[in-house]
Order: sequence, then structure tokens, then C-alpha cells
Amino acid sequence: MSAIRKAARLRVLFVTPECAPWAKTGGLGDVSASLPAALAALGLDVCVLLPGYPSVRQAARNARKVADIRSAHGLPSARLLRGRLPSGVPALVLDCPSLYRREGGPYQDGDGVDYSDNALRFGLLSHVAARLASAASPLVWRADILHCNDWPTALAPAYLKLGLPGAAPSLVVVHNLAFQGIFPLDVAERLGLPPESLKSEGVEYWGKLSFLKAGLYYADRIVAVSPTYAHEIRTEAHGCGMQGLVETRANRLAGILNGIDMDAWNPRTDPHLDTNYDADTLEDKAPNKRALQAELGLAADDDALLLGMVSRLTDQKGIDLVLDALPELLARPVQLALLGGGDARFEQAWRERAAATPERIAAVIGFDERLAHRIEAGADAFVMPSRFEPCGLNQMYSQRYGTPPIVRATGGLVDSVGDFSVDGLHRGEASGFLFADATPAALVEAVDRALKVFADRVAWRTLCRNGMARDFSWGGSAGRYARLYVAMRAVAAA
Ligand code: ADP
Repeated sequence: MSAIRKAARLRVLFVTPECAPWAKTGGLGDVSASLPAALAALGLDVCVLLPGYPSVRQAARNARKVADIRSAHGLPSARLLRGRLPSGVPALVLDCPSLYRREGGPYQDGDGVDYSDNALRFGLLSHVAARLASAASPLVWRADILHCNDWPTALAPAYLKLGLPGAAPSLVVVHNLAFQGIFPLDVAERLGLPPESLKSEGVEYWGKLSFLKAGLYYADRIVAVSPTYAHEIRTEAHGCGMQGLVETRANRLAGILNGIDMDAWNPRTDPHLDTNYDADTLEDKAPNKRALQAELGLAADDDALLLGMVSRLTDQKGIDLVLDALPELLARPVQLALLGGGDARFEQAWRERAAATPERIAAVIGFDERLAHRIEAGADAFVMPSRFEPCGLNQMYSQRYGTPPIVRATGGLVDSVGDFSVDGLHRGEASGFLFADATPAALVEAVDRALKVFADRVAWRTLCRNGMARDFSWGGSAGRYARLYVAMRAVAAA
């Protein structure tokens, strides 16, 4: 029997701190919507567990209570509600108003400050996830595999290994190793972590408690969200202090490239666009550029290379590199349309630059799903100068929208963008521009390469079409997860 057919019997609990469209701050929100749907399409019995933030309670208002969770250790009591995501995938909503009914986002208040009780908020999420994957499950349904995502869920493998009966195997997926969930060690008691786990061969990390460390240490498998990132997190440059531990677990580490939701991100049907188009009607992309220029107050200029950016405004994303490159970029026939939010200093700097040159630079500070789609379609090229990028989704969206990405050669960007060369163009492999150094000069050089190709309309069209022809669907990668689950089950059963 093929591995995928074997996987069809598996019950998978996919625990996540965010899931689009109910709660999303970044790529994890998108992946939490699209990967479970792809796994369900393969026949797996997959269920998503996420906290009942107000937006989730509102979206899942028809969800009904399926279990009461009694308080344990220093964690409060809660309820499990069962509903369905828009994809049809079952969702378990962890309802605990004292922890999750907040005005701000999933992790931070409206001022961008982390909630002071995040250890408990995500400790509870991890604890309930682990119970659902054990003989102590509060439901008849009990997971065969626990699929954890990032630090807010990464304590779950520790709970499974540290005493829950009938524990299922677990994997922790690293979407971003830089976020580690580090808290004072004295919160361990309230989380119910036994004293023997509070050491470096356990959850302790330089005198503190690290959720991510716990996951990396106790999970049966570790997955990084691209093959290149799987390699990078073993190095000092990208290991964020965890490289030693990751290295000791290298034989349990895999890299699986994220896919995208090909329906939500489809220029042929995207309801946010003025004019829909596909690879055969690429000329219909042009009205989207004009519409974007008009909407953002940029000059109506068909010939300018309109660069789009949709990003968290943080050091990771290399936002400062673009700011520093602006004088050089503005000396070229270039416009910029940026959508993003994050560090106050970057928000301020972009506002100022846009105010100084409104016909060339537009900066919309905030989160706006509609505008994100319109930038993907309306821009000529998409810029991602990330210092590191575990996978990155926007470069995939932009290729699907015929908007070649200009990206730094790191992580998933290496695995999903084909660098321009004349040969690569004609072989169908080139789909964007990569640059190596995290410097403004290297970025400008890559933009110059793009400008040169942009001046040759036939070559540019071929480049756009190469990107549009790439398959970023979950098909292959969901199958890789399914095969991994089967292998984990086989080891657990042996
Ligand atoms: P990360 O998860 O590191 O932020 P990704 O490229 O993996 O980066 O995913 C980012 C996701 O969040 C994409 O779907 C992107 O369109 C979206 N996004 C980021 N910032 C904004 C914003 N300001 N408005 C709308 N969508 C945004």
C-alpha cells in the first residue's frame, strides 16, 4: 500500500496560534488554512486546534461545545468548541476568555507589546493539544499525530514525553526560529512542567524556559519550512542560538517547502482585482497597475518599474535596506508601493519618505488583505530583501500573479525563485532576481538587472509567464508531510 494511502487513515491534530481568515498575522496563518485542507484532500482525518480569540469566536459562532477542560496545574479551565473552517476542515476552538478575549492581536496588545501572560496563554494551548494526542484526550477523537507550529505550540511535545499516557508521536514545524517563546523559569510550575525537565536536556535555555527549545528537544521530528532553511538553522548565522541542539537532532530534521492556496491567490478569479487575468491574457495585468497607481496616489506612469512590497516591517525583512537604497532607486525609473506594519521606526521612516515623494513612493501602514492582493497584481516586480526567510509566501504569490520577485538569496527564497539568466529564461527556469549580500548596493544591482529585462518587453513577459507556470500548490509538500506522519507512526508502533 502506498504511504499516502496508509496516511489516509491517520488522525492528525494541527495545533496553531493563527489560522486565516479567522486570525492571521503572517505566513503561518496562511499555512494553517491551506496545509490542513490539502491534507484533508489526501484523505487524512485532520483537525485544527486554535485559541478562541474574539475574531475566531465571531467567525466560528456556530461552533458547539464538545468538552470541558478542567483547570490543571496553574492553567485555567476552558472549553473546546467544534466548528468548521471555510475550507470545511474541522476546527477545535479553545475557549478561555480570561486568556484569549483581548482587544489586540494573537500575541500582542494594540500597542505591539507582548501580553505578559503569553506563557500561560500558549501553555494552555500546548497542554490541550498534547492531551488530545494522548489517552487523556477529552474527546472520543484522539490524534495519531500531533503537528505543532512554532513556539506557541512547542510545549506540547514536552507534555507528551513527560507523562501523558498513550502519547502520540509529535512533530514541530519551525516557521521562524527567531521567535522562541522565552519566559522566566519560575512559570514552569504553573505550566505543570516537572522539575526534571528544567535543565538543558529539557526545556531550560540559558536559565530561562524556552517553548521552542522544548519542542526541538522533545518532538519526534522537526520540520523546517524549506530545504534551504533546514540547512541554515544548523549554522551559527541562522541558528539563533539553537544550532547546537538542532545539529544533535539533524537525523530527525527535514525541510518541506510550504505551498500556497492556489484558489485564494489566483489572478484569474481574485475578487480584489479590477481586471482579472492569467498567463494567456497578461495584457490585462496593466489595468491593475494603473488602478494601483491611482488608488495609492502614484503618478500614472506605464513605463516606471513599479516595485511592490507587502511585509512585516522588521529587521528580518530587510526593510532598512530598501530605505537606505531609496536615493539610488529614485535615480532610476522606479516607483514603490509598500504595505506593512511593524517596528515604529520603520513605519515612521516609510511615512516620511512617501510624504516627501508621493508620486514615486506610496506607503500604507497597516494590515489590509485586499490591498495585499492588489499590490501582487498591480506591481511589475515584488521586492523581498529578507536577511533571513524561512520560506516566504509573497514571492510565490507574486510569481503566480506574473510579478517577478527580486529577493535575497536566503531560505525558502532560494528554493522558490529561479534567478534570471538568458538561458534560464528560455528553459523556463528563470522567474525572478536573486542577490547575495544584505546591502543596499546589492539590492540596487538586482533592481538594475530587473530594469534591463523590463526594458525588453518580450523577455519580461517570458519571465512573468515562467513564474506563473510554477506549481506552488500544496500537492507535493502535503504528500511529504503525509509520508512523514506514516514514518512517525511506524516508529511509534515498533
Ligand atoms: P512572514 O510570515 O514572515 O510575515 P510570509 O511571506 O511567509 O512572511 O507571509 C506573510 C503573509 O502575511 C502573506 O500572506 C502576506 O501577504 C501577509 N501580510 C504581511 N503583511 C501584511 C499586511 N500589512 N497586510 C496584508 N497582508 C500582509
